[in-house]
Amino acid sequence: MKISSNFDSGNINILDASSPGNIRLSINKDNNSDFYQWFHFRLTGAKGQLCALNIEGADGAAYPGGWENYQVVASYDHETWFRVSTVYKNSTLTIQHVPETDSVYYAYFAPYSYDRHQELVSTAAMHERVKLDVIGESCDGRDLDLLTIGEEREGKKKIWIIARQHPGESMAEWMVEGILNRLLDDDDALSRELLNNCVFYIMPNVNPDGSIRGHLRCNAKGQNLNRDWDDPDPEISPEIFHLRNKMDEKGLDFSLDCHGDEALPYNFIACFEGVPDLNQYNLDTAYMFGRELERANPDFQNGKGYSKSAPGTGNLGMSTNQIAHRFNAVSMTLEMPFKDTVDSPNPETGWSPERSIKLGYSTLDALSAILERL
Ligand code: ZN
Repeated sequence: MKISSNFDSGNINILDASSPGNIRLSINKDNNSDFYQWFHFRLTGAKGQLCALNIEGADGAAYPGGWENYQVVASYDHETWFRVSTVYKNSTLTIQHVPETDSVYYAYFAPYSYDRHQELVSTAAMHERVKLDVIGESCDGRDLDLLTIGEEREGKKKIWIIARQHPGESMAEWMVEGILNRLLDDDDALSRELLNNCVFYIMPNVNPDGSIRGHLRCNAKGQNLNRDWDDPDPEISPEIFHLRNKMDEKGLDFSLDCHGDEALPYNFIACFEGVPDLNQYNLDTAYMFGRELERANPDFQNGKGYSKSAPGTGNLGMSTNQIAHRFNAVSMTLEMPFKDTVDSPNPETGWSPERSIKLGYSTLDALSAILERL
């Protein structure tokens, strides 16, 4: 029996793996940071044995509330993921599972691999309406890929969609895959019409280093990128430095920043109530987008979410606030659950890549419905 995590987005620390009935593990912190919660590892040689995998110190994770009513995901082929029995008790997260084969992967959520990211971007770039730009390099020297979809022309609305500032929130890139697939489907009349009126700037993975390193929230240098939008330092947050510069260059009318929330079992949006000189019309448009998304897809709802910032107290280091303020634009953070949706549950999968992809499709319905207000 062996446990390993030395692969793309792997993260686990082995304390004791001598007995399948009491495997002791812990999660490594993001480099140069105290955040931890993302895990992804492989168990081999335990076919047919009842395994108890105990992740110790779970109470010290970034969001311990994330473990309540949470079930770990597992996969034999690294492609199809299912939920396994999980108990959180006395600061330990315990997975109880009898693997059906000699190789099984466990993770916090279905990973979105760097290979799949490269395929997504390269395949999109084959489409005649798509332009691919590498807008800079990450700390570890990886390409920061930006896709431009649709002809850039005066008078078109500029729509920005970004994902994975927080690398452990892999559902965000699954969602972007859905958005891209629908936008590039020539048989989809809504997409064709959107592309007549808009140009899309899409960055499927803002933080490739954190993704590959198996981080929850930070880049390679330990920066929480979604706190660095006010004054991004090219040395330690090159990802945001380059992205914000590109937004300044191109302009922006609407922005969707895709995330996952560890604790809340809902899909919801967070807006920019706390920014200085709040533009109420833009805020109303964002709320309207939320209502249209709920209409288009019952997995989404508007009743539950974060509490709204008081006027003037918004953190301009966060993308949604900085963008709303900087561009006088409609800007929002879309959060998906790690667990499942309370109102529309699917216990076998919980929240999943497939549901994230479909929610991505639906965002285009909602965008279309509010377009004339941009
Ligand atoms: Zn996030």
